[in-house]
Amino acid sequence: MNAVPTPITFGTTDAAEIRRMHRLFEMQRAAFDAAPYPELAARKAKLRRLIDMLRRNQNEIVAAVNADFGVRAGAETKLVEVMGPILEARHALSHMRKWMKPRRRSTELLFLTNSAWVEYQPKGVVGIIGTWNFPLYLTLGPLIAALAAGNRALIKTSEFSPRTTALLRSMLGACFAEDEVAIVGGAVEAAQAFNALPFNHLVFTGSPRVGREVMRAAANNLTPVTLELGGKSPAIVGPDADLREAALRIAHGKAFNAGQICVAPDYALVPSGKSAEFAAAVRDAFVKLYPAIRGNPEYTSIVTERHAARLRQLLDDARTKGATLLPCGDIVGAARQMALTVVTGVNERMQLMQEEIFGPILPVLEYDCLDDAMALVRRGDRPLSLYAFGLSRTEQRRVLRETHAGGVTLNDWGWHVFQHDLPFGGTGNSGMGTYHGDEGFRELSHAKSVFKRQRWFPIGLFYPPYGNLVQRLSMRFYLGKSPHEASNSVKG
Ligand code: NAD
Repeated sequence: MNAVPTPITFGTTDAAEIRRMHRLFEMQRAAFDAAPYPELAARKAKLRRLIDMLRRNQNEIVAAVNADFGVRAGAETKLVEVMGPILEARHALSHMRKWMKPRRRSTELLFLTNSAWVEYQPKGVVGIIGTWNFPLYLTLGPLIAALAAGNRALIKTSEFSPRTTALLRSMLGACFAEDEVAIVGGAVEAAQAFNALPFNHLVFTGSPRVGREVMRAAANNLTPVTLELGGKSPAIVGPDADLREAALRIAHGKAFNAGQICVAPDYALVPSGKSAEFAAAVRDAFVKLYPAIRGNPEYTSIVTERHAARLRQLLDDARTKGATLLPCGDIVGAARQMALTVVTGVNERMQLMQEEIFGPILPVLEYDCLDDAMALVRRGDRPLSLYAFGLSRTEQRRVLRETHAGGVTLNDWGWHVFQHDLPFGGTGNSGMGTYHGDEGFRELSHAKSVFKRQRWFPIGLFYPPYGNLVQRLSMRFYLGKSPHEASNSVKG
């Protein structure tokens, strides 16, 4: 069990880690300049090595993540941290050939007979900052996109996953040269030094607050950023939804990794008069999934005591402001395993409606009609995800078009993220840019536009002196009569 998080310094100081990251960055940059366009076979070989690394070390990964959390459900580690990147890499392996092909574009009519296309070129050295809640999926996911796009990558992990970071470092070290892929640690000073490196692209996963800092630092180098942030993802339960089925799926979303997921349903919106019935259904579902919490190896701990204290404080604040709490088991045991608490009688003044919960607490609010529910969603920052249960097709279409969210799962939670052909990313406060699939490949490539002029193309007709017949005809075709000519012809 890990009560006090230990910052990762790999036995060195932050200062030493900063020197190391500078050396690695320069090394990767030089290596990229020496080999700026890895061919398909080389990229595929890297992804295959990554898949092999994950398969071979799956049990060590489960153990390391478990040690960092206190308890981390092994099946969830295998599903998300091991299978997640494997699925993503396999998807890239089957599509990279197509992604890498130059994509033909049409020329303007005036330039017919010439050709135009887009070439996707590796950007160079990509910086990846990950967080502790899925320390592998959220660093290896961007890494897969970076490698598929032909880049090199330097990864900075969270100080809250020391053992996983150490394992990742040795696994990556065994299958990549440091000038291809490397990993650095360190605490806040090291994180700030990392941001200051002139990467060719930076992918940051974390909170909107730190995301702002990262973007400010990246701006000094005009480094493009992908910000994978969080937010309050609503779950709208429609009037015709099967309440017990919706409650089970939402309970699962809140219990998976103990709700420490960027795409967990943050709060539920249920039709007026249904909150008590829904809350009871969530409790029943949770208890069925986790009959016991204390010592249950399938129920994940809150990552540190500080994080657990914040969650308890959210509950205290709600209780003080008049909410009703429905605990579905022990609130916190020695291993920081904290059962789900469903909260009803919630209002927007409560702290748990003002910040992302990121833990096993489910506020339930009532709405009168779909418009009210959508208005409530729109009043908040744009969330990373939105879930809607039991809506008609017309209602689904309205929710999709009239609310904003990074991604949506209909009739369940979170699974859109696991479809690696879909882009994954936020919007507004929940982030910018995407990875996964074709969009991820393009995000980490430079889309270079190329125009090729054929030898016999008579572009000279558009050189000065201006006003020849071809120029006059084409101006007339595209611009119509000039206002001056038009008014003369009316007068005439
Ligand atoms: P955080 O923002 O505190 O930390 C994220 C990472 O940034 C950590 O590795 C941390 O070491 C590093 N960091 C801290 N200060 C930094 C700085 N000044 N410069 C650069 N890096 C710095 O977030 P957290 O508490 O670790 O994670 C929870 C948040 O992350 C939630 O908001 C959650 O929704 C979000 N999240 C988003 C996704 C996603 O894919 N969109 C996934 C997981 C978590």
